[in-house]
Amino acid sequence: MQFRSTQSQDPLVSFKDVVLRCLPPDGGLYVPAQTVDMRQFFLHMDAKTTYPELVATMAPTLLQGELNPFSANRVVESAFDFEPELKKLNDKISLLTLYHGPTGVFKDFGIAFLAAVLEEFLKNSGPAMILSASRGNMGVSLAHAFRGRKGITAVILYPSGPIRGLDSSTFVTNGGNIIPIQITGTFDDCQRLIVEAINDRPFAERYGVTSANALNLGRLLPQCFYYFYAFVKLKDTLQGDLVFSVPCGNFGNLIAGLYAWKFGMPVNGYLAAMNVNDAFGDFIRGRQFVPRPVVPTNSPSLDVSFPSNYDRLAAFYDESPAVMRNMVYPASIGDERTFITINKVYREYGILLDPHSAVAFAAAEDLAATQEFAGQVHTVILATGHPAKKAALVSRAVGRDIEIPPRLAQLQRHVDPVAIIKPELEALEGAIASCF
Ligand SMILES: *Cc1c(COP(=O)(O)O)cnc(C)c1O
Repeated sequence: MQFRSTQSQDPLVSFKDVVLRCLPPDGGLYVPAQTVDMRQFFLHMDAKTTYPELVATMAPTLLQGELNPFSANRVVESAFDFEPELKKLNDKISLLTLYHGPTGVFKDFGIAFLAAVLEEFLKNSGPAMILSASRGNMGVSLAHAFRGRKGITAVILYPSGPIRGLDSSTFVTNGGNIIPIQITGTFDDCQRLIVEAINDRPFAERYGVTSANALNLGRLLPQCFYYFYAFVKLKDTLQGDLVFSVPCGNFGNLIAGLYAWKFGMPVNGYLAAMNVNDAFGDFIRGRQFVPRPVVPTNSPSLDVSFPSNYDRLAAFYDESPAVMRNMVYPASIGDERTFITINKVYREYGILLDPHSAVAFAAAEDLAATQEFAGQVHTVILATGHPAKKAALVSRAVGRDIEIPPRLAQLQRHVDPVAIIKPELEALEGAIASCF
């Protein structure tokens, strides 16, 4: 498969170039320029197929010619020390839990794949340095995914504020390959510095600098594997239509689902589940979309005014607006309903949901209650975050204490960065140079 920028039909670039360049020079985002038919695999896989088997088998076809079966096996083995889980609750509902990774959110899947595939692509091509900016637990996910990768150093920039959860034994100062640096500034300063460092050609070439920010397609594309996985687990018992309910913030997860459909997965629709920050629903309905200021909610990862993946979604709608309107259904669920849903799902199924997953669950309930769909649709709800990450809220909703797994408890531990610097390129380059 080849890729292009959302801003132009050419040039076509390889997956390796997409991953290494992160963003095209024209200001767009990379998207697949072709489609690949993955349907053959669905015949040969069933409920017994494991997640590593599925990814190792499908990745070489999806990334035609760029990842051979041996490389794919190495990528899968080194990336995934965690897996998605499909729980069928009844004939109408399944839950796809995606929170078993190091930081307890689905984003661990994309980051883990990207880090492993980078190591594979960079073999024999000299050292490389991945620059990323971190908010929340992203740095832990990156450090976990990149630690010990041959020839790769991962520099993680943090804005002012406490840094938590990193394992200091992985730092360059302790013989590892992770360099956390704190910038006395904002998250935007961190992102600006990354762009400046990449544009400083002599510096970028000396260290082989690239970026692994959230818009890297190398993180988003592999998310389609867990949609395939859910389908393969369910296909032999499916009756009627299949819908995925996805809690949407920057819409990366939903777009990965749409790629899965484009690559041949038989699915009837997607629920774009939002909280009260739902202005983007207008775009999905084909109306004019006017961004609104963000209202803080109990599902903060969905508190987005203008989705950073807008251009990628718009590319789908430009291609076939009518098809898309029958494919994606917007939904909006408020905080109170989210809270009630957490309680209800616990009482009915004994399952704890985090608020983001509860938004998707409630959206699925509403769909099932409409006349058109009543009784004929199976909905897979994406559980994107571990309930223990929002323990206080979930505990209030279900009326009991929430156990926090050790790996998630560790995310709270304070750590010191390798350096604290001013938000200036010279300071960043100096701090990096002093690590070698
Ligand atoms: C990031 C995140 C989302 C939103 O995902 P997008 O790909 O940005 O739409 C939903 N739930 C949780 C728990 C998240 O961390």
